[in-house]
Formats: sequence, C-alpha cells, structure tokens
Amino acid sequence: MKVKIDPELCNGDEVCVQLCPDVFEMQEDKAIVKMEEVPDDLADAVREAADSCPAEAIIIEE
Ligand code: SF4
Repeated sequence: MKVKIDPELCNGDEVCVQLCPDVFEMQEDKAIVKMEEVPDDLADAVREAADSCPAEAIIIEE
C-alpha cells in the first residue's frame, strides 16, 4: 500500500497522526506521510485514518 496526503485539503487537525503516528506526522500545520510504502501491519491503521480524516485528504493507492 502507498498513501499520500493532499496538502490542499489537509486542515491540520492531527486526527491521522493520533490514529497512526508510525505513518503520519505533522510538518508545520499539515500532516505528511513518513514513508514511501506502508508495511502490511500498519495498513489497517492507515485505512482507519483515511476513513476518519474529516477533509478526505488521505489518498490510498493499493
Ligand atoms: S486527518 Fe486529514 S485533515 Fe487531519 S491532519 Fe490528517 S490528513 Fe490532515
């Protein structure tokens, strides 16, 4: 799985960082993805973060 964040949509509320800090982190007032490829054991947490993102800014590519 690959994941990215649309910085135009991200509102910086940190929901994804709280749900999956292994993959997401804040950089200034936007969330960023820390890794190119998401390991399988973090995939469910990334999906939950994408489902929970109020801005629908998290884009998953499987
Ligand atoms: S949950 Fe969505 S809007 Fe909130 S910081 Fe993460 S990517 Fe940005």
